[in-house]
Amino acid sequence: MDYINAHCAICGAGYHVCQSCLETRQFKPWRTVTDTVRHYKIYSILHDYEIRSTDRQAARDALADCDLSDLNTYLPEIQAGIEEILHS
Ligand SMILES: [Zn+2]
Repeated sequence: MDYINAHCAICGAGYHVCQSCLETRQFKPWRTVTDTVRHYKIYSILHDYEIRSTDRQAARDALADCDLSDLNTYLPEIQAGIEEILHS
């Protein structure tokens, strides 16, 4: 039985990360950050924007390619970050 040992940085859902994922450092260990690849994509856009490695227009374009249909399930600060990029 998989136990919950991580929570998604986007939606806050609990999920299980296997030990080998936790120990894998040579490629992007998205399983240690979010529960799905889709949420990881959103996470990296917000992160790049936060550290200013991408500008708002680029972040907006990138978000336009994402499926945000479950936006209302995201953590409040994530929803606020997305709102800021899309509507300010
Ligand atoms: Zn998630």
